[in-house]
Amino acid sequence: MPKKRPEIPPLKRLQFRKTLSMPSLLKNVFAHFNNIEEHRTKKPTYPLSETLMTGLAIFGLKYPSLLAFDNDREEQRIRHNLQSLYGIKKAPSDTSLREVLDEVTPESLRPATVGLIQECQKQGVLENYRFLGGYLCSIDGTGQYSSQHISCPDCCEKKHRDGSIEYYHQLLASVLVHPDKKQVLPLFSEAIKKKDGQTKNDCERNAAKRLLPAIKKGFPRLKLIVLEDALAANAPHLKTLEDNGMSYIIRVKYGSNKSLIDHAIKCMSAGETEEFEETGDDSIIRGYRFINSLPLTKASPEQRVNYLEYWEVNKNGKNKNFSWISDITLSRDNVHDVMRAGRSRWKVENETFNTLKNLGYHFEHNYGHGKKHLTTVFATLMMLAFLIDQIQEVSCTVFRAARHRYHSKTSFWGKLKGLFTEHYIEDWKTCYLAIIYDHKSTTLQVDYPDTS
Ligand SMILES: [Zn+2]
Repeated sequence: MPKKRPEIPPLKRLQFRKTLSMPSLLKNVFAHFNNIEEHRTKKPTYPLSETLMTGLAIFGLKYPSLLAFDNDREEQRIRHNLQSLYGIKKAPSDTSLREVLDEVTPESLRPATVGLIQECQKQGVLENYRFLGGYLCSIDGTGQYSSQHISCPDCCEKKHRDGSIEYYHQLLASVLVHPDKKQVLPLFSEAIKKKDGQTKNDCERNAAKRLLPAIKKGFPRLKLIVLEDALAANAPHLKTLEDNGMSYIIRVKYGSNKSLIDHAIKCMSAGETEEFEETGDDSIIRGYRFINSLPLTKASPEQRVNYLEYWEVNKNGKNKNFSWISDITLSRDNVHDVMRAGRSRWKVENETFNTLKNLGYHFEHNYGHGKKHLTTVFATLMMLAFLIDQIQEVSCTVFRAARHRYHSKTSFWGKLKGLFTEHYIEDWKTCYLAIIYDHKSTTLQVDYPDTS
């Protein structure tokens, strides 16, 4: 049974805020794009900021390919709407879009993300993401694009048994999450490069050495608690986190953290761990066992971590077990929250990668490979488009009312793109209100060529 859709709020409540609504979010990003240094020496036909905005519009409108966009872009309605909604006077062809964006460094786009997050902070939106006295930042890697035929210097390579080579791109992404919220707020992403190593573990650890200092520099005052999977539970990575002033809650598993868990079991037998169980209003039994300051490994006994084991049993007797390490000192008062924070790590997979791959954003499509940065620039622009959508979901009543006219995200994006391609639209508010209240349409008329 599909869920009942929420009622449409009265028209007088459907007002855009001065900030954090689509026009102001795009204006914010445009201002940052304007600050990016032009790499071309000749005066370009299309300014860099508008070329970047075109990329953002393609991902914002969820075009499945650049070619699909290129087929549309010369149509009068599209040109009009790109100008009225995105401030783009003239959109470049798909070929020149690729050529120009290939030369842009992905790092130069980061101030646009900082600008949006700062605005969220100013407007009190970020405060709602506060948890355990900081902000939970879930980090994980994901595959972005792969090919047996084309490659660039940053491509990772996988050699197959038949001798063929697969080239692929991967991204290490960081997103702010909250256990009670479906929306995530992506911070920066870092491309995993060929030189980062051969194993998933090396790749992510080395890319994190670039990502974490960048986050620290971009958001120096955000107290971050990093959430990661068991691959990150190693001494060098904990040191990188510590060097960047970040706290952590990281999953551990017996396979990869044997000596730590054996040590914890010994402590339990000796009665040195603390443990308790409680039954919630939802009839779920939740159990916690914890101990502070255990050595992470035998090889690095100076690296001390706090260790939490958690189990739950539901009404039907089904069990779940998890363990984490953290630098947060554990007590009876905070282990429930540490557990909830630790379990919200999956939001980087489910609410982020899954949404980008399966709910309209076409994350794994090949929009163009380029010779330098193109793949990563496209991924960064897509993450930026996703951040804008997430901020609208959190903070814009007009966007939310429009979104809730559709059960699925994919249908909503389909409607938005349909309006964009088939109608002249003056502004974003008209666009969203037309989705909310439906729209009058005139009979289709042919714009015959002038033969006089
Ligand atoms: Zn490549």
